[in-house]
Amino acid sequence: MARDVVIAGAGLAGWAAAVAALEEGARVTLLEKTARAGGSTVLSGGFLALAGTAMQRALGIEDRPELLEVDLLAVGEGENDRALVHAYAAGQADMLDWLEQRGLQLLDVELSSGQSVARSHRCVPADLVSALRARAEALGVEFHVDAPVEELVVRDRTVIGVRANGREHHGAVILATGGFSRSEELLAELAPSQVHALRLGGEGSTGDGLRMAMGIGAGARDFAFVRGTFGTPPTDDPTEHKLLLAYYLGAIIVNADGRRFVDESVSYKLIGDACLQQPGHRAFQIFDHALLQAAPRDVPLFDPRPLLEEGLLRSAPSLEDLAEAIDVDRAALLDTVTSYNRVVAQGGDALGRRNLVASAGALVPIQQGPFYAYPSTTAVLATYCGLTVDVDARVLDGSGAPIPGLWAAGEITGGFHGAAYMTGSSLGKAAYFGRAAGRGAARNSSEERA
Ligand SMILES: Cc1cc2nc3c(=O)[nH]c(=O)nc-3n(C[C@H](O)[C@H](O)[C@H](O)COP(=O)(O)OP(=O)(O)OC[C@H]3O[C@@H](n4cnc5c(N)ncnc54)[C@H](O)[C@@H]3O)c2cc1C
Repeated sequence: MARDVVIAGAGLAGWAAAVAALEEGARVTLLEKTARAGGSTVLSGGFLALAGTAMQRALGIEDRPELLEVDLLAVGEGENDRALVHAYAAGQADMLDWLEQRGLQLLDVELSSGQSVARSHRCVPADLVSALRARAEALGVEFHVDAPVEELVVRDRTVIGVRANGREHHGAVILATGGFSRSEELLAELAPSQVHALRLGGEGSTGDGLRMAMGIGAGARDFAFVRGTFGTPPTDDPTEHKLLLAYYLGAIIVNADGRRFVDESVSYKLIGDACLQQPGHRAFQIFDHALLQAAPRDVPLFDPRPLLEEGLLRSAPSLEDLAEAIDVDRAALLDTVTSYNRVVAQGGDALGRRNLVASAGALVPIQQGPFYAYPSTTAVLATYCGLTVDVDARVLDGSGAPIPGLWAAGEITGGFHGAAYMTGSSLGKAAYFGRAAGRGAARNSSEERA
């Protein structure tokens, strides 16, 4: 007989865990701190890093789990927990089948930084959460919003439940409370290099689960690797981000002095760090009308048109007028764009740019008016670090032993990404390890039973 399972957090990891546990026959209680389900998941771009899919095959993209694994380790600079990466790479195809049978719809696939081939598969994340929620409700989940888990209930060194709103809920516990991108306190303590970055991510991303688990001796890792993402306007509203990655389509990035300062093809995390070193911790993505026309329509992060309509993207008929509109020295901006166009024609960029993104895509000149400038800075969207877990999503203590009764999945966990993050790997990890946690927590095992 399956055990009762209590899950904290109703993002992708929490819902995947709930469905998996219910399908094992468990009684499941899902507790969400905020007034609605979704967390950072529903704010995300919806990209899932998957390899060897039918969609890739149909487009003639050759990819394999082994290549995904190699790329994840390369992006993570070998600082990853190899067992987690291997489990994900080997199991993501099965996870995709599982999600598709429960309503996931993939829309398209594109190349992102850190990928040898195009493997960022896009979905509408709110639709994925809704589909999993519908399945969980059909299977009888007990779901509460405005129910912040405040404490783990521990007896004889075993986690036997949680306390929320003054009431105890007993069962095997899965922490799926997300990261801490919205906690000033934890960011100042654990990621001081990001002190000038904006804080995005779901409003509930305040590190609650992390603190609770560490409070009972859970291990944690990778805090040194927290990085912001470049491309969000300095005035961004955390609940409705306006992240634009036009630089991966060919835009250049200039600082307030009108000068480039970074190879725009590298990871947006590295660009994020470089931006924080610039005057005012801000910069501009500069591009021309040809890029705007070529940009994919209605693809979040890549379509500048809605930002133009909202007045966030500045435009002007000439580069001189654009410089004036954004208060940047005209001569400097003209010189930067002229020099860059020479690089596009002849190569030899002093900052090292050869491609649009990573090692793919030919550079494009900036020459056809009107011209555009997107004021941008660095924002911490997610914290890719946290609790130490094994491949079954069991939380490990400081000595590497599983803490009886406790599982964790999603952004709350560390180890998977290592030094940096591949686009799509955070939603992928939330779904894969959420499902693993749900199954593991539900399965009856006499040694682990409270
Ligand atoms: C703008 C943006 C774009 C992104 N784009 C991508 C992308 O395209 N691909 C990708 O892979 N990743 C992306 N990410 C990162 C990704 O969205 C997250 O890492 C992932 O969704 C985390 O899922 P999760 O289920 O672990 O956490 P969340 O989805 O954040 O869910 C955690 C839930 O737990 C709740 N909670 C917190 N504390 C408690 C508590 N004490 N008790 C009960 N509930 C609690 C929260 O309110 C929240 O609802 C993006 C993030 C942002 C912000």
